[in-house]
Amino acid sequence: MDLDKLKTTDGLDLKGKRVLVRADLIVPAKGGVITEATRLERVVPGLKDLATRGARVIVLSHFGRPKGGPDTENSLKPIADTLGKLAGVPVGFASDCVGQAAEEVVSALPEGGVVVLENTRFHKGEEKNDPALAEALAKLGDIFVNDAFSAAHRAHASTEGLARLLPAYAGPLMMEEIDALRAALEQPRRPVAALVGGAKVSTKIPVLTNLIAKVDKLIIGGGMANTFLLAGGVEIGRSLAEPDLVDTAREIMHVAKARSCEIVLPQDVVVAERFEAGAPSHTVLTLDVPADQMILDVGPKTVAHYVDVLSRCETLLWNGPLGAFEIAPFGEGTFAFARAVAERTRAGTLVSVAGGGDTVAALNAAGVTGDFTYVSSAGGAFLEWLEGRELPGVAALARCWRCRIQPRPLTRRFAPTSPQRGEVKWGAHDLHFSPMGRGRKRSQDRFRVRGRLPRKGVPDAR
Ligand code: AMP
Repeated sequence: MDLDKLKTTDGLDLKGKRVLVRADLIVPAKGGVITEATRLERVVPGLKDLATRGARVIVLSHFGRPKGGPDTENSLKPIADTLGKLAGVPVGFASDCVGQAAEEVVSALPEGGVVVLENTRFHKGEEKNDPALAEALAKLGDIFVNDAFSAAHRAHASTEGLARLLPAYAGPLMMEEIDALRAALEQPRRPVAALVGGAKVSTKIPVLTNLIAKVDKLIIGGGMANTFLLAGGVEIGRSLAEPDLVDTAREIMHVAKARSCEIVLPQDVVVAERFEAGAPSHTVLTLDVPADQMILDVGPKTVAHYVDVLSRCETLLWNGPLGAFEIAPFGEGTFAFARAVAERTRAGTLVSVAGGGDTVAALNAAGVTGDFTYVSSAGGAFLEWLEGRELPGVAALARCWRCRIQPRPLTRRFAPTSPQRGEVKWGAHDLHFSPMGRGRKRSQDRFRVRGRLPRKGVPDAR
């Protein structure tokens, strides 16, 4: 996937165009009342930009986990209302994301108008990336803007499917996220450190494996450090650990060494008898963990050591807390380290990128979120990026050939929505496609396309 091929709508004439925007409108709500709207506040400027350029803006999102049909609890209606209040303009709503209800609302939408369509997951085809649903959605728009990085790790109809059918662009929040992650992982200011914490090694093996190939220092904290300590022959008492992954931890340390990636582990830890708020606790050296106690945080020596490592780095990528931060006093290590990162970022000596649900919660609790270079609220997508995986929603944007005019007869590979021989429409033009390969080697997702594209008249092409 060539990320340099991503395109934004900058410079496009959007006047009168129906722009389908895939946003992430997932906010905490109780009984139809939004309790925290930060995510919506971030979506608003992008929508307003499209509206002021004369676009007819149609917003798509999923919400919650509906069981294959509409339900009031997962309706986007209250979110559309809140979005309107935040944007200071009326935001319409359609009771379905496809079909007559959506078509009527969209056709009545004036230039500069904004409408939210009902939860895409009310249709089973959304999560199955059903071509029929993607086509029904595509009928509503002239171009597609994906601004939901957090949903880009799933190939769903409103993310990956739509990008195959319409000229597809990356939205401003999507670009911001990708730029931040590229700045931390693909083209970082070196030396670069990654801090990986959290409960278990098992959930982050691919992350660790990918990072040791890319960073200079890998700082490990949280419960997952216990398995690494165990691998080094350290007694860890009753601490959370995964003894069956000791060999994996050794392998990771071995490969890291071969790649000159330094692995940094805790030197002292906070231990307690019980995993409980206010449980009596004390700090011991990692080599002195009592047999009847468990490690619940890193100690001050460890924080000082991690900060020292950081002082020799120019970039930090952070996922996962250093301890059981939700339970006092076991958040102190995480908070102290977060404050040090914030201070260096403010001083301009560090690029700091953090992400993941618990990490964001820990940074919020430490009151330093705003001081980091970038904090991603995308959980699964952020982790999959750290794993080095291609995100289908981003890849579909990067390979979108509809954004460009091909002045020659076209014969190229791409992946249409159906594995059968057939036709695809580009504006008023029919292109014929057939699967690559023959017999058993016939491909399900690579196609040869034949057709002559006009020099003019391709809607929205650059
Ligand atoms: P993860 O989802 O893997 O990032 O893990 C986050 C969780 O790890 C948080 O809920 C923390 O409370 C927990 N955690 C971090 N350190 C420890 C530890 N030493 N013992 C038990 N749980 C921990």
